[in-house]
Amino acid sequence: MPTIELDHVSKIYKPRYWRRRGVEQDLGVMDVDLTIKQGEFVFVVGDSGSGKSTLLQLIAGQTKPTRGKVYVDKKDLNWMMKMSRNRAAVMFGKIWQDPTLIRKRTVEENLTIAANIAVGKENPRMTQARVKKVLGLVGMRGSEQKYPVELSIGECRRIELARAMIGSPPVLILDEITANLDDDSIWDTLHLLNDINRKGTTVIMATHNSTYVNILCRRVITLTDGHIQGDVKKGKYGDVLGREPRLILPNYRTDLI
Ligand code: ADP
Ligand code: MG
Repeated sequence: MPTIELDHVSKIYKPRYWRRRGVEQDLGVMDVDLTIKQGEFVFVVGDSGSGKSTLLQLIAGQTKPTRGKVYVDKKDLNWMMKMSRNRAAVMFGKIWQDPTLIRKRTVEENLTIAANIAVGKENPRMTQARVKKVLGLVGMRGSEQKYPVELSIGECRRIELARAMIGSPPVLILDEITANLDDDSIWDTLHLLNDINRKGTTVIMATHNSTYVNILCRRVITLTDGHIQGDVKKGKYGDVLGREPRLILPNYRTDLI
């Protein structure tokens, strides 16, 4: 059951090479120190462009830090990804901000592919049962033979959630998954995530919807311009307590990177 640690992690898009050519660089996140223990429910909040997606991608090993390291159970995540991309990847059930279902495959095929990666190839009947089970969890049973284009954006998000959960990964990483859902679906999804979390799964969720962050009252990490401004247990949206307030310079010292 993995503990995730970020040790002075920074991500700068378009680093030195681009800078020498006068291209303006983009700061993803800067000098993030963070520990997330197994079983935590963490909201990552902040304005658009504050670095939420970058932070989630770093945690999941989808992008390499420009500086610093990400450890999973004291092991360097990038090294783990190099050794076995699949083995490292199955630790994390992920949903990214942009939809990633394969458009030319049915829902069942999409989920079967994910199941084969997450738990290895098994008896087709077992895979089918797995697919049915996760579709039931997200309230989408009956959509097995549909193609993503036949579903609403909200329904596609639910299928993506089913796909993320199919191998029962210890950590779920969810980027703005409620953005296109109606209120009822949001609450259904949050109930489901709450249940899964109570059974021991870590949930890390980026959002800029304050309502349910405030109602759920879980750990809230607040990002501002790539810096962690707040990290509060049982926090509310926008809480910046729990950390020493830090000075954010408008021109961050990228020459240190
Ligand atoms: P958020 O998810 O909070 O909206 P992001 O992590 O997507 O924030 O982006 C943080 C910053 O990094 C933004 O300024 C954005 O322009 C920049 N950024 C993100 N991804 C890339 C990329 N692939 N290439 C260049 N800049 C990027
Ligand atoms: Mg984002």
